[in-house]
Amino acid sequence: MGKKKKKQTPLMRQYFEIKEKHPGTILLFRVGDFYETFADDAVLISKELGITLTKRNNGGDQTPLAGFPYHALDSYLPKLVKRGFRVAICEQTEDPETAKKAGKKIVNREVTEITTPGVTMSEKLLDHKRNNYIVSIFWAGGTVGVAFSDISTGEFGLSQVGKTELDSLIQSLQPSEVLIQKKLKNSVPEILKSNNITFIEDWVYEGDYGYKILTEHFKTHSLKGFGVEDLEIAHHAAGSLLHYMQETQKSSLGHLKRLYAYENSEYMSLDGSTKRNLELTSSMQEGGTDGTLVSILDATSTAMGGRLLRKWIMRPLKKAETIENRLEAVDELVKDHTLREELRDELDQVGDLERLISRISVGRTNARDLKQLQLSLAQITAIKRIIGQSGSVLIKSINKRLKLLIDVQERINGALVEDPPASIRDGGIFDEGFNEDLDELREIARNGKKYIAEIKNKLAKDAGIPSLKIGYNKVFGYYIEVTNTHKDKVPEHFIRKQTLVNSERYITPELKEVEEKVLSAEDKSKTLEGELFEELRLYVAEFAEDVQQIATAIAELDCIQSFAEVAFRNNYVKPEINEEDVVDVKKGRHPVVEKTLEAGEPFIPNDIYLDNSEFQILMITGPNMAGKSIILRQTGLLVLMAQIGCFVPAEKATIGLVDKIFTRVGASDNLAAGESTFLVEMNEAANILNNATPKSLILLDEVGRGTSTFDGLSIAWSLSEYLHNKPEVAAKTLFATHYHELNELEERYERIKNFNVQVKEHDGKVIFLRKLVRGGADHSYGIQVANMAGLPDVVINRAKEILSNLESHTLDVSHDGNGAMAQSAKKKEAAKKVTKEVEKQAELPQMTLFGSQIDPNVETLLNKLEAADPDRMTPIEAMLMLSELKRLV
Ligand code: ADP
Repeated sequence: MGKKKKKQTPLMRQYFEIKEKHPGTILLFRVGDFYETFADDAVLISKELGITLTKRNNGGDQTPLAGFPYHALDSYLPKLVKRGFRVAICEQTEDPETAKKAGKKIVNREVTEITTPGVTMSEKLLDHKRNNYIVSIFWAGGTVGVAFSDISTGEFGLSQVGKTELDSLIQSLQPSEVLIQKKLKNSVPEILKSNNITFIEDWVYEGDYGYKILTEHFKTHSLKGFGVEDLEIAHHAAGSLLHYMQETQKSSLGHLKRLYAYENSEYMSLDGSTKRNLELTSSMQEGGTDGTLVSILDATSTAMGGRLLRKWIMRPLKKAETIENRLEAVDELVKDHTLREELRDELDQVGDLERLISRISVGRTNARDLKQLQLSLAQITAIKRIIGQSGSVLIKSINKRLKLLIDVQERINGALVEDPPASIRDGGIFDEGFNEDLDELREIARNGKKYIAEIKNKLAKDAGIPSLKIGYNKVFGYYIEVTNTHKDKVPEHFIRKQTLVNSERYITPELKEVEEKVLSAEDKSKTLEGELFEELRLYVAEFAEDVQQIATAIAELDCIQSFAEVAFRNNYVKPEINEEDVVDVKKGRHPVVEKTLEAGEPFIPNDIYLDNSEFQILMITGPNMAGKSIILRQTGLLVLMAQIGCFVPAEKATIGLVDKIFTRVGASDNLAAGESTFLVEMNEAANILNNATPKSLILLDEVGRGTSTFDGLSIAWSLSEYLHNKPEVAAKTLFATHYHELNELEERYERIKNFNVQVKEHDGKVIFLRKLVRGGADHSYGIQVANMAGLPDVVINRAKEILSNLESHTLDVSHDGNGAMAQSAKKKEAAKKVTKEVEKQAELPQMTLFGSQIDPNVETLLNKLEAADPDRMTPIEAMLMLSELKRLV
């Protein structure tokens, strides 16, 4: 390496020096009008961006090179970052001319900004309705320190959670980047593995560095003012996050004004899988928003509102009063169409205040941002007028928080032109009359010649030389020319510069001054505009906190109006909220499915009643496709909607507040990489049993499907017993299953009730009625459904035969008296009997799939296999048996 370095050209040496300081980052190196990359970076970006890879002679070495013109940065940078790369931009930080004059071989270059998936201000990278979070995790002991920020909006929060709660928090933030200590590189915690991880030097998380950097940033002595002083574990996370953001942004981040404690306990707990299963903000199939709750509830008009709505959905409330305040506000807007319409119209014109003020604060901004800020602030007046008469507690509080910031509006309005340019370098930003010096400079630049002519006239008049001329050449610039005839009238302050045959040329200090002005007026006016802009920007940035507060209030108002609009459009009702343990929904509908059914197909509403005394566990049976899952999900969604303060799709709904929602849905629906379906399912079931409370709502869909019928049935059975018998976890539960054997539980347990989703059989076909009714399903109609799916008749008929055989045996499962999970000997015996029957019968139809007749050899083979006991065989016996069996095939 040392030898190589010596041979390198100065440019390459500088490149590699800077590159070394930014490991794991693509370095875009400004050379003249290009951003260049070298070596591995060049190979990478040529592949990622489809740019030609060339070679550069680097003192004998051939270094790969790939680059693009500087103005293409806007399109290439987002592409790289979206693919998860970190990109450092290295600019020339001095004028090449100046460097040359100073005898330097090479201009100074510095990394001015690092863009990473989690730290970016670029509009091209940000989705305006989504927060872009970066999370830092301090992984220590049992409690994890978590900090998160969206640098584009100025949000900065921290929390301390147990390792089990971390998944839920990460799920609700959906971070683009997660920071953790470098020492965990080879042992990344399982819950974080699917994230885009950046490893940070361990020292950043250690000692009191975190606390120091935070108090330095906020210019405070402690963190008491933010109410987070005691969250010591989280300080490490927040400090490392701030450190990383400062390092990448290379700026002070003045818009991060406060640090708040994210209190998990204030919100309904939704574990990661519930958030996924209920398809709150992203769909399970494509990961997009089609078919999600947010796609139905989002009628927000502003970007801030859109982002807050997602947070509300991910964080349902638990306090009746806060929920009631939202509901009451929504109610007011549902009822008053004019108010709602007017409000929507005004909100439509409010720009993204949060991101505008963030860009303005860190200086990555332009005059258009300021103008937009001003126009958005101007809307506040109208909005305040509209909501001024509201009787809602929440809307009144919003109104109070909406400051007008008249001074800011006037200052910007008085300064900028109506439609300012995107660049702050080319001038034309400020209005005439805003600044005298600027006006003068512009006047001079524009009317340079006219101005010189005026001077000429004045000089000619004062000196009494009518033929006095003003000329221009490159050597002297502007000069005065007087013919020899008038030479003696030339005033003393004229300085002679040149003698020609018939005339003399002079300059005067005044003329030189004017010349200076004229020639550099344009440059100067641009520079002055730049300075004035910076002044204005800093002035506005002082109001960052106010603007953020306004933005939050607008976001809330927007969410409320969105709920009202959606309730109106979709005919939702105001749910009644209380602390009693009853969920009582009349004619409830699934908010998403009712919108996505094919034309003409009506959605069938259903009633659901759950409580803690009689209807604790509803055992819902019915064939596949009957509508069981939909009922489960719709109940979960309705409760969630009510607790975010939204109206619900039902005729009437009374919701006793719920502390947690758990879901466990069909096995095939979500496969975690590398784990067996069954294991995932059991992990989730274990999580539910360990964390549910009598205030929780549990949705269990086809538990046990991932394993053999009897294993699955037994697990489902004992799970239900446990939820019923253990008072600490006796949560309201909807249990959808096609094991109609579970209907027997109703007779044994007082709070388990059977329901089924009705179907009708007609001409051997099943008609789905989609109605939830009391009582167990008599049989599962699986065969009829299979028939409808087009399985060959021979298979269907054989299946019917086996079924009637099986139905002559009932599963005799008796309760052992203690309500525990243990199976009695009798139970085992009964299960064994039926298992055998099923196994014997079930093997056969598979064979018949290949022909209508069962091969007698196959029967012999099966009998022999059944009789064999591998545990008692010697290896030789086993081999002999194998070859015997083989002969039968
Ligand atoms: P299951 O869980 O019983 O197998 P699903 O709940 O998945 O069945 O429902 C199957 C399909 O039936 C849904 O995708 C939906 O199209 C339709 N469906 C379910 N419930 C209703 C309803 N109440 N009204 C109209 N269509 C429904």
